[in-house]
Amino acid sequence: MANVRIVLVNTTHPGNIGGVARAMKNMGLSDLCLVAPKLFPSEEAVSRASGAADILDQASVVGSVVEAIADCQLVVGTSARERHIPWPLVDPREMAAVVAPLPDDVTVAVLFGREDRGLTNEELQLCHKHVHIPAIESFSSLNIAAAVQVISYELRMAALAGDEVKNQRPQWGTDWDIDLADHDEIERLFVHLEETLVDIEFLDPDNPRQLMPRLRRLLMRAVPDKVEVNVLRGVLRAVQKKTGR
Ligand code: SAH
Repeated sequence: MANVRIVLVNTTHPGNIGGVARAMKNMGLSDLCLVAPKLFPSEEAVSRASGAADILDQASVVGSVVEAIADCQLVVGTSARERHIPWPLVDPREMAAVVAPLPDDVTVAVLFGREDRGLTNEELQLCHKHVHIPAIESFSSLNIAAAVQVISYELRMAALAGDEVKNQRPQWGTDWDIDLADHDEIERLFVHLEETLVDIEFLDPDNPRQLMPRLRRLLMRAVPDKVEVNVLRGVLRAVQKKTGR
């Protein structure tokens, strides 16, 4: 499962980063990406990793979530909380049944949020799916390393089960004739779409309301491939040409 990247956003406690590294290594994951961690590298992270310090040594550190996922074709975000604009929801087992069988050239990012306030809505809206660990409702937030453990355990179980698991679950259109679009291609599509909607005065930049998140959800739900993204970019270029912008 070298193609699965665990992304931790703005982690506060270095001990948690160490705990995550250990949880990953136990389940055979190795790609750890830290988005603007508060304190890293750190002794405390190494000590909590106990034996998984190699994962910390290899970890990449980047400045933004968009950077962490730019080369990924599938992105899922983990969150304990329901959102005002709900995102397509799956549990860890459903996620693992789709992710574990993917070929190595499909890079998958699994996002984890801040200890105090999780992922922002904007960060969750970068994702194809919202993965929720069905904890008890009155106390649903797990420690981040525990959450990584649950997710990576399910990935490991699905990988061990092989094709049996794959054939039981929908594949979200990932077993497709055309390669899935990279995340940076999708981001550029949304920038272009927003720009065009402003040009044609469908979107009022001073009062955007929830138009972009709603369009984003529609498109992300489809898990768009490279050709689909290119066709939509072509449509937008044609619209801009007609309107002379
Ligand atoms: N208080 C935060 C929760 C932070 S827990 C909030 O209100 O969102 C730190 C991270 O662990 C979360 O951002 C998420 O990535 C993961 N996590 C914790 N509990 C989870 C759950 N029940 N389902 C999915 N992810 C969870």
